[in-house]
Amino acid sequence: MLSYQHGYHAGNPADVQKHLTLIAILQRMQAKESAIHYFDTHAGKGHYDLADAQAQKKGEFRAGVAKAIAVREALEKNSFWADFFAGLDNANAEATQQGELHDVAKLRYYPGSPGWVAQFRRSQDRHTVFELHPAEHAALQDRATASKQRHTGRVVYGDGLAGVIQQLPPKTPRLLVLIDPAYENKTEYLDVAATAATIMQRCRHAVVLIWYPLLPAGRHALLLEQIQQQVQQPILQSEFCYQESAGERGMYGAGMLVVNPPWQLEQQLTEAMQPFLAQYGEVATYQHTWLVAE
Ligand code: SAM
Repeated sequence: MLSYQHGYHAGNPADVQKHLTLIAILQRMQAKESAIHYFDTHAGKGHYDLADAQAQKKGEFRAGVAKAIAVREALEKNSFWADFFAGLDNANAEATQQGELHDVAKLRYYPGSPGWVAQFRRSQDRHTVFELHPAEHAALQDRATASKQRHTGRVVYGDGLAGVIQQLPPKTPRLLVLIDPAYENKTEYLDVAATAATIMQRCRHAVVLIWYPLLPAGRHALLLEQIQQQVQQPILQSEFCYQESAGERGMYGAGMLVVNPPWQLEQQLTEAMQPFLAQYGEVATYQHTWLVAE
């Protein structure tokens, strides 16, 4: 049974890194006119209220998106951050009008991955999102129905790893897949590597973006090892450590793998992340490695 709910973590430092990377890839891919089918295998609710009980329980957004907002002026000179803040403003447009902004972060809502993509996808693009948790799916479906999918893309209730494979190859010339599990089940590290390998066998040109947590147990090593063995295309790894690893539990950072990254993505992301990194003091690091060389 699934128990993870992203509302407790929305807008935390790992979310900001993930969504900035997603925006960077979308921006780079959209430099060409040809259509993209975007799949989101683990969608979540698509939209999070930072004033609700889940977000307020630990207030993780204060260590993430609130820190970005604190240095917004410096960050938004960069085009990836400019899109990030434009997306945040859009998601908060109604709340701003109604004076519902949150005290600390000066925002009320934080978009989930379906919400970010929905804002930037073009008329020629396609957008399909999967969610398996009944309550999360219901919230996402309600939002899709109310907005005729304008805020979410096409919502599918089911397993996103099997679901994306069933829909390949897409009709569009290009394909972008985000794989963002909660890793509640340890076999997910292996399942994600196997799914990425199958996607790449069916669509050699696909761009696949995979998120993983950095936890003291280091279970992500299995994902790295397996994906390196099973995927032949270039894989760029980015790891963002925003606090020291303390004790046996607790996430101290997050990683992203990009299969077939756009050219020079690592330089562009490093440049974009530097001023944000400075918000976390000397312990923070942001590093790229080629798991499979270009
Ligand atoms: N991608 C979202 C974002 O960036 O806003 C966050 C996703 S959250 C980390 C992971 C989500 O995957 C949870 O909502 C969980 O219910 C869902 N999930 C877990 N296993 C799944 C599966 N096999 N297929 C689809 N969704 C799944």
